[in-house]
Amino acid sequence: MGLFSSKKNPCGICGGATPRIFARVIEEQPLCSDCNDRIDMEPSLQDNLTLQSIKEHFVYLEENQVLRDNFVISKDLDFGFFCEKVIFDFYNKLFCMSGEPDKMVFAGSHLKSFTIKEDQETLFEGSSAGLKRYTSSVPDRVAALAPQLAMVRMTAQVANQLDRDEDNKNSYRPRMDMPEPFEEFHIELKLEHPYWQTIEFKVSGPDFNNTHPDANSFMREYDQTAAKLEELAGSLMHIAFPDAEEMLVGWVNPLQQAMAAERPVDSIEEIRRFKGLLEEGLITEEEFAAKKKQLLGI
Ligand SMILES: [Zn+2]
Repeated sequence: MGLFSSKKNPCGICGGATPRIFARVIEEQPLCSDCNDRIDMEPSLQDNLTLQSIKEHFVYLEENQVLRDNFVISKDLDFGFFCEKVIFDFYNKLFCMSGEPDKMVFAGSHLKSFTIKEDQETLFEGSSAGLKRYTSSVPDRVAALAPQLAMVRMTAQVANQLDRDEDNKNSYRPRMDMPEPFEEFHIELKLEHPYWQTIEFKVSGPDFNNTHPDANSFMREYDQTAAKLEELAGSLMHIAFPDAEEMLVGWVNPLQQAMAAERPVDSIEEIRRFKGLLEEGLITEEEFAAKKKQLLGI
């Protein structure tokens, strides 16, 4: 048989008609498009497929169909056109990497851990040990670019003015080569699952406008995506590790910090407290005297 053979070989799995060219071939037998499209496993596992392992995979998918049929979408996260969609079923603790439960449905118990990064910097880390969230350095880096952004806007304004003054002549405009503070968010899920051990996808970070770059619109767009990723992290924790704690790493609530700094100390109340400690024998007479002196400022 060759490319131009008029006799089509039947699908090695279902016996159905196969495309004459570009059919996927497993153990020298072609697959029909339906069978090929049904394969739902990570690319690294697809290198050594046999007809037998595909048949076993389809039995697994039949069983998975029950989860698809019972899937009730509680939350749907759409990361934009051409980007990944994720749906959650909070009641049955399921998720699926699609807008509809039409792909492999995973149980929360399949999830071992996940990370969400912006470029190489970790934003979220989730596992049975808890959800860790780290402070992003993006807002600070965007703020640091503000003077350069203002310069680009001003240069564009001057060029526009020159065009008006000189009969729509096209003035020189500097190329906008501002590097974005970061390229993309990188999401990685680690699973304990026969067909998917790793699910990875990327979401692009915002771009500066070429002629009118500004930090505020960049941050508005950034905040929208970051909020959606926070929902993703929370939803994954909810279905996989509902009892885990949330931990903030390197994050200080500025309001709490300010309040702590400004809270006046009631000296008399504090001295009474130390007097109590002295009476209980928890501090010595000398320690009490020193503390009293300090609190009264004498
Ligand atoms: Zn087939």
